[in-house]
Amino acid sequence: MTTMTSNPAETAKKVPVTVAYGDGIGPEIMDATLRIIEAAGAQLDLERIEIGEAVYNKGLQSGIEPSAWDSLRRTKVFLKAPITTPQGGGFKSLNVTVRKTLGMYANVRPCASLYPFVATKHPNMDLVIVRENEEDVYGGIEYRQTNQVAEALKLTSRPGSKRIIRYAFEYARANKRKKVTCFTKDNIMKITDGLFHRTFEEIALEYPELEHEHWIVDIGAAKMADTPEVFDVIVMPNLYGDVLSDVAAQITGSVGLAGSANIGDHCSMFEAIHGSAPRRAGQNMANPSGLLHGAILMLVHIGQGKAAESTHNAWLKTIEDGVHTYDIYKEGVSKQKVGTREFADAVIARIGQRPQQLKPVEYLDEIKMSLMMRPAGKPPMKVRVGIDIFIDRRDGNPDQIAEMMQRFGVEGTKLTVISNRGTKVWPNGNPDTYWSDHWQCRFEGDGEGIFTQEHAIALLQAAARAGFDVIKTEGLYTFNGERGFSLAQGQ
Ligand code: NAD
Repeated sequence: MTTMTSNPAETAKKVPVTVAYGDGIGPEIMDATLRIIEAAGAQLDLERIEIGEAVYNKGLQSGIEPSAWDSLRRTKVFLKAPITTPQGGGFKSLNVTVRKTLGMYANVRPCASLYPFVATKHPNMDLVIVRENEEDVYGGIEYRQTNQVAEALKLTSRPGSKRIIRYAFEYARANKRKKVTCFTKDNIMKITDGLFHRTFEEIALEYPELEHEHWIVDIGAAKMADTPEVFDVIVMPNLYGDVLSDVAAQITGSVGLAGSANIGDHCSMFEAIHGSAPRRAGQNMANPSGLLHGAILMLVHIGQGKAAESTHNAWLKTIEDGVHTYDIYKEGVSKQKVGTREFADAVIARIGQRPQQLKPVEYLDEIKMSLMMRPAGKPPMKVRVGIDIFIDRRDGNPDQIAEMMQRFGVEGTKLTVISNRGTKVWPNGNPDTYWSDHWQCRFEGDGEGIFTQEHAIALLQAAARAGFDVIKTEGLYTFNGERGFSLAQGQ
């Protein structure tokens, strides 16, 4: 364990932090980062753990020593340098393992341009992407159900949506941001993305001082790439956030300068967004700015906003003074090309200074994230109204399938629609629609009584007796009378 200051009076305020120096350029940029934040007054008790190549090479497929989890659970804060992921099969992504194991539900990535010191088409860009980190298609639940068709499950929960959206609003409030924007595709995914969007509108009401807006992700993304300066904080489901946070970092001018935070209720992880750049390792060349930004996010998170502010402003002044590492050095703009150590020295020499041309940052010392989940209201009334039976049928014809199914004779039920990859093909299908071997056959109550689980089982037995290859079923429910399933396109 390394202590960052030796003054006993300050020791009480020190916050335990787990650090990993990583692989490639990791040790150099971690050393530079820690020197800078210490000089800026960070009060940390560091616990070092091993991750990455050396651990993978010991045969541990997760890339992390079992004992390292104890440190992470104890300190709850992880500053991580990049690691080298071994090529070839079998090895698990350390980031995904840590994120999922420790429930880090929010990924936060500030993306600000440094014009005119780093070339960009967007001189006034200063936005923060808040990406949901655990749900959506990232459960990785996939099936190949027929010869022709595979599926991935997209799961969106109300508590998961509430938590990330509340985090985005709290982040905006704490960082004096003015607007929170939500991106979804709820014109198509009305139930999953619709839930995320609806939750956004509900939570926004609790933050009347913040402007809020929603964009469909396609036009929102196009707008973000064209006029990023109109956005402030953008919150989005996992997949869109994964793609667009890289786009946002790239269009600031240099993806190598960005840091990111993975926030959980119990444990949080901070890092650069770039990798271990093995070809630059050990040459005192790498730019430590990405990891330094990760460390700034960490300091804000642990309530050391003043140290974060001194670090960030000294860094901005260094960039503004033209002291640049090779990756951003540009003849005519830069004044001095420096190595990793010298860059850190230059930032340290400017602690206490503020940038003149770039906008200085201001961080509060204490952020109160009131992220506690509010008790949920009364659960809605859930009523079973039918079943979708999915079948694999190669030489299918919707009219034939419908005819065979209408012969099932399960009293109280009726076949209402057949669709193929989401498009209605019966009744009154369009002859131009392509039929794959994957059919969704919907049975609902006949309107006379309630559709029960026994009806569903009887239908499955009838399907088996008729020789259908049933590949899966989905229950159809209403919640307080609201339909909890999508209609087929064309229905
Ligand atoms: P990379 O980000 O390491 O490098 C891409 C390019 O950017 C290279 O040209 C590199 O020299 C340059 N670069 C990156 N960081 C720099 C810095 N701080 N200063 C100056 N130049 C920098 O991506 P890669 O080459 O695709 O991956 C290398 C290794 O890193 C792989 O093993 C990959 O799996 C791993 N990786 C790890 C993480 C992580 O730990 N979070 C993230 C991405 C990649």
